[in-house]
Amino acid sequence: MKPLIKLEEKKDVFIVNNIYEFLNPENVYIPLNDSQLKDISYLYKDSYLDNSIVSVSGFPIGFEDMLINGKKIKALKVNNDFKENKEFRKSKPKIKTFQDLVQVLEFNHLNTIKEKIMSLPQIDNFIVSCFDEEIYEMNEFMCLVENYKEILKLIDDLKKVLALENAVLAIKNTNVKGIKKVKSVSGIYPDLKVMLLPDKYLMSNPFYLTDYLNIPLDNTLILTTNEIYEINEILKGKSISEKYVTISGDALKKSLIIKTKIGVSLKEIIHNFIKITVSDYVVYENGLLQGYKINDLDKVIITYNTRCIVINKLEDNMETECINCGACMKICPVNINVKKCYTQNLKSHRCLGCGLCDYICPANLSLKEIVKGENHEETFD
Ligand code: SF4
Ligand code: SF4
Repeated sequence: MKPLIKLEEKKDVFIVNNIYEFLNPENVYIPLNDSQLKDISYLYKDSYLDNSIVSVSGFPIGFEDMLINGKKIKALKVNNDFKENKEFRKSKPKIKTFQDLVQVLEFNHLNTIKEKIMSLPQIDNFIVSCFDEEIYEMNEFMCLVENYKEILKLIDDLKKVLALENAVLAIKNTNVKGIKKVKSVSGIYPDLKVMLLPDKYLMSNPFYLTDYLNIPLDNTLILTTNEIYEINEILKGKSISEKYVTISGDALKKSLIIKTKIGVSLKEIIHNFIKITVSDYVVYENGLLQGYKINDLDKVIITYNTRCIVINKLEDNMETECINCGACMKICPVNINVKKCYTQNLKSHRCLGCGLCDYICPANLSLKEIVKGENHEETFD
């Protein structure tokens, strides 16, 4: 296995170490096709429409074409009445077994966490990762800093209730603020191991994380700091209608972490918090390396799965001919012959979509797009 690398970050992108809240938007958008709208005249906060949470209470005012994951969808626009009216008051669930936890997650539409649990035939170890997926992203970092007491307590409770052998909190060794806070309370939880790991790209990947910690992958549940925070909110009888999103990039006056309602349009967040300093810029959703380009910033909806938005100055990165340097193959963590995939239009199911080949290619070729895919012809090493 190749050693992980540290990616250089631009010095002029500095993410402000505070949370900015945007919890009273004018409107939110819910992905929906209009046939489902028949009898809806009012929407309650924390209700669900087609698996999407309604994060405010208010009145539906029609459909708009919006973007989710870079794809065009129809979305119902809900005008916030700022009353936060809820149809039902939720009870506080108790968890005694994994089955209880799975049921609670299912009831609250936290399917990503549920699927992580369901995919493991047996769970003996538990890792909570405070590593963000990419550079210019600090949601996990700040979630730990803001909620460290509750996060540590819940990890310890889950370890006991679910009779797990190991519980590890993995923190980036550069998260000085988080480490200080965790150390101030970690003595209360002697069974919880706090591990400081190097700030390397792909450390959030389960394969690399378990390898670094020398813990087997196949019986280990790995959750993020944000996922633990969400479970904790649910156990308090709340819903997950808000999330952290990092908005960063060298085209911005300031890069910020925003706690926002789910369903808000990126346009409304930018209007309230962000100053773009140039006229020509490029926007990526969910990461510079693993994410995708957004062509119409005004149409983007913040969903449960939105982690970050990067807005960078447009640079003259014209694609040129492959110069046969071999850098893409050298950097690929899973040893795919990237150049051969590119020249022969082959895919590999082993591709992690990490984007390191694109990042390193001096010819500015979009290699990840070509290599990553399920309908593959597995290649060679
Ligand atoms: S995106 Fe795929 S091919 Fe490119 S470096 Fe990552 S794993 Fe290798
Ligand atoms: S890094 Fe780019 S230029 Fe170099 S071999 Fe790979 S595809 Fe060609």
